[in-house]
Amino acid sequence: MSWYAALAVVLVTVVAMEFVAWGSHKYIMHGWGWGWHQSHHEPRHGRFEKNDLFAVVFAVLAIVLIGYGRLHAPVLAAIGAGMTLYGLLYFCVHDGLVHQRWPWRFVPRSGYLKRLYQAHRLHHAVPTRENCVGFSFLYAPPVHQLKDELRRLDSVRR
Ligand SMILES: [Zn+2]
Ligand SMILES: [Zn+2]
Repeated sequence: MSWYAALAVVLVTVVAMEFVAWGSHKYIMHGWGWGWHQSHHEPRHGRFEKNDLFAVVFAVLAIVLIGYGRLHAPVLAAIGAGMTLYGLLYFCVHDGLVHQRWPWRFVPRSGYLKRLYQAHRLHHAVPTRENCVGFSFLYAPPVHQLKDELRRLDSVRR
């Protein structure tokens, strides 16, 4: 496999992972995986939360793909590398930027990072499994769109 083919697979995987993460967040974490994810919608006690186990599952999967792929199928190793890169970006945006799980404080005041920040804050506007909006992580829909959706869900509930 040439290096540029490998690079292309890595980049496509990063984009695909955003869809995978969005889908797992909406249908698994806010579905049958709520038992782990609930901890992320409640105040955290200590350094870790049960929800971190999802990251562990994805990390193990990436390690297996890289380990097996290096020996038998380079394309799988490239997919594993793409998953790892996505994991890093996800950690910086979600755990770092939005949830401040790193030692410095930086709240973006403008541009796309601000939109990302606000969009995920709106996801946490609802502490329950149902009626949440904004399930994506690296992509953020316009904030007003999420606010409208929240209002609509809220009026349906009443
Ligand atoms: Zn959630
Ligand atoms: Zn969050």
